[in-house]
Amino acid sequence: MKIPEKNLNEAEVFETLERYRANDNDWRAGRTWGYVFDAGREIEAVAKKAYMAFLSENALDPTIFPSLLRLENEVVGMALAHVRAPDGAAGNFTSGGTESIILAVKAARDAFREKHPGAGQPEMVLPVTAHAAFHKAAHYLGVKAVTIPVDTTTFRADVDAARAAIGPNTALLVGSAASYAHGTVDPIRELGALALEKGVPFHVDGCIGGFVLGYLRRLGEGVPEFDFTVPGVTSISMDLHKYAFCPKGASVVMFRDRSLRRHMIFACSSWTGYTMVNTTVQSTKSGGPLAAAWAVLNYVGDSGYLEMVRQMRDGARALVKGIREIPELRLLGDPPMTLIACASDQLCVFALADEMKDRGWYIQPQLPHAGGPANFHLSLQLSNVPRVPEFLRDLGEAVAKVKALPKSDLGENVGAMFAGVDPSTLTSEMFSQMLAMAGIGGVGLPKRSADINLILSALTPQMRERLLTEFVNELFSADRS
Ligand SMILES: *Cc1c(COP(=O)(O)O)cnc(C)c1O
Repeated sequence: MKIPEKNLNEAEVFETLERYRANDNDWRAGRTWGYVFDAGREIEAVAKKAYMAFLSENALDPTIFPSLLRLENEVVGMALAHVRAPDGAAGNFTSGGTESIILAVKAARDAFREKHPGAGQPEMVLPVTAHAAFHKAAHYLGVKAVTIPVDTTTFRADVDAARAAIGPNTALLVGSAASYAHGTVDPIRELGALALEKGVPFHVDGCIGGFVLGYLRRLGEGVPEFDFTVPGVTSISMDLHKYAFCPKGASVVMFRDRSLRRHMIFACSSWTGYTMVNTTVQSTKSGGPLAAAWAVLNYVGDSGYLEMVRQMRDGARALVKGIREIPELRLLGDPPMTLIACASDQLCVFALADEMKDRGWYIQPQLPHAGGPANFHLSLQLSNVPRVPEFLRDLGEAVAKVKALPKSDLGENVGAMFAGVDPSTLTSEMFSQMLAMAGIGGVGLPKRSADINLILSALTPQMRERLLTEFVNELFSADRS
């Protein structure tokens, strides 16, 4: 592939783009339980119009585009009010949950370094249910991730384990409200009290739950405490591109006070170009996501969101009730919002995901980890709500079909083959062979995912990570024809 010598005309460009996505997931159908948050055509149109209106503006320098500064301060103001931040709180708009989390970890790390000059490697204490983005932040920022267990019935963090894990190098304690995988809320009040007692900052990951939980509380649901009203909480991340239904590239990171937020900001005057001062990891960035987030928050409005959350709550109740009526399935924890994880002692949940895919549904496989079983995850959002009865019917049928299938011994074979093997001693070729066993030869995406998930399940996290890296290192093969 080269830049074409003869250019495509406009019609050809768009025909080609449409053709390329013909086999993509049809997310508008409401049959996708993850990745997409869809509040319908009307809100999508407003979002896209605002996005395009500010697509070309550059949020690199707020003094050149004062409109972007104003939009950001207003969006962050709405977010701070939503999580009941006190006077003096501050925050910034970021490209997503991962960036918000990286920034919160950076702020905590640099505050720790300032307070403890000469200390060793800073550490972050986090439950095993905390989002992978914290591990990414730890990896990028040279912070040691110290994981603590969760209760394997409630999937909430173990506060005694947190207490035991906090040491002289702890720069940050983490809790989730809610965790992505099981949708459960950690004991934030207890963790906040512990953070205060130990004098460490405490980040609450409200990326997926922060927006919805506030509305559920107002609807009279018994929502666990999680926001800035809890003493000890020093920062919160909250994604707008999830349950606020804003286009992707929209999240906020918020701090109880500016003295911590200061450590997030990066300024550089040690080069020959323009003076650079960034609040985020990105430097040059489109004004589109910010303008779109502002537009959607204003267009939907508070009562609009309250109504959306009411509908999603009712949908989630029906979903939970229906799943409880399928004896082969077992809900993990007692999910307080719209995120559900479901295991089975009688059938392979990965085969179930493939079976549901054949029926036009996307459900998300989750590997067994830290005492928790293999399961599938559902993020229920607005466009799924009218599909709940149909989904439950198909799920029941798929369960019956998978239950009758012979059990695969692939996982056991692979597990036995690689037990005790150190991944650093394996070559790329050996990993290619493992991928071939799962029916993934060379370049391309697997049609059915059960085999690869069975193989991954049988491996240690380090082996899984290495296998996934090899897979993606193959997958992204630039077209050089
Ligand atoms: C989605 C999510 C993240 C990561 O956010 P991205 O927007 O995917 O980068 C972090 N934490 C939780 C709880 C999430 O659900």
